[in-house]
Amino acid sequence: MNKVIDGFLYADFLVEVARRNPNNTRFLETILETQRLYKKGLIQRARFPRLFAAGNSERRIYDAKNSTRLPGNKARFEGDKAVSDLVINNAYDFHGEVRQFLLDIENRKSIDDNGMPLIGTVHYGKNYNNAFWNSAQMTYGDGDGEIFQTFVLDDVVGHEMHHGVTEHTSGLEYSGQSGALNEHFSDVGGVLVRQYKLKLPADKDSWLVGPGLFMPEINGRALRDMLNPGTAYDDKKIGKDPQPAHMKDLYTGWGDNGGVHINSGIPNKAFATFAQAVGGNAWERPFAIWYATNCGDNRVSSNADFNAFALKTLENCRKLDKELVDALRGAWAGVGVEVK
Ligand SMILES: [Zn+2]
Repeated sequence: MNKVIDGFLYADFLVEVARRNPNNTRFLETILETQRLYKKGLIQRARFPRLFAAGNSERRIYDAKNSTRLPGNKARFEGDKAVSDLVINNAYDFHGEVRQFLLDIENRKSIDDNGMPLIGTVHYGKNYNNAFWNSAQMTYGDGDGEIFQTFVLDDVVGHEMHHGVTEHTSGLEYSGQSGALNEHFSDVGGVLVRQYKLKLPADKDSWLVGPGLFMPEINGRALRDMLNPGTAYDDKKIGKDPQPAHMKDLYTGWGDNGGVHINSGIPNKAFATFAQAVGGNAWERPFAIWYATNCGDNRVSSNADFNAFALKTLENCRKLDKELVDALRGAWAGVGVEVK
């Protein structure tokens, strides 16, 4: 299985924020802690296999109470009444929304399609600036209250849990273009969880990934913008959104595992513009093609690049929804991926 080790905020982004805010050591601490936690999470999975065995997709929300213990104290499990802490209730609700999306739209019983429990720990550490999936559970920090407002957001949960879905299906390798596709599929999953919950058709949603993440003083709408990659934020405290919107601007450096969070802007824009061209709900016809391409019987191989992924979407489009072939080819051409 291909494991994703980054949190929602990826290491290169956190390094950039740390560089720009030398008096705020939280960012470097977050990077180190994310790495430590990832290792710990895997150990935990090996030590307590029963905890992660087939279940009924039940929710289990824990509270770390600002410590770094996982999973922490039991806070709200499936069927429990709401508690007084809104963060705990939000995590419980958002885990439920992702579960519903997986079941209704992807016909999956939880992330592994085997009913694995949807575990999450909130209030992790002190002002911890990240949220992540470690193959076993979600973990959420509170943010520093200076740059980051919160990490318990519906599309953040949807994004991270879709890394789990990819782990259990195509297993797209987490570097270079296949890694950017892995990130892309998680952005699609995250944004569609929100659109589905709010019943927003493709032309009514913002297509932002993580609105509500930044404090109001920060000049940023979200961490990414699927429709207009490269425009989500621009602020001296966090830098400028580095995403390209076209193959001519493809990032080819070594950073960020070969640009997995950078180049995902290219397929993101292809999907968002395709969904808008099709009209109606993106989680219906457009996503059926994407889901088949990443998770179905006729899915991409784990080392697919943008071209191979685009070709596979066309194949699946011809099989599932022939009328949409021209719109799909047009959306890929719009970002510089030409497929016949
Ligand atoms: Zn991700």
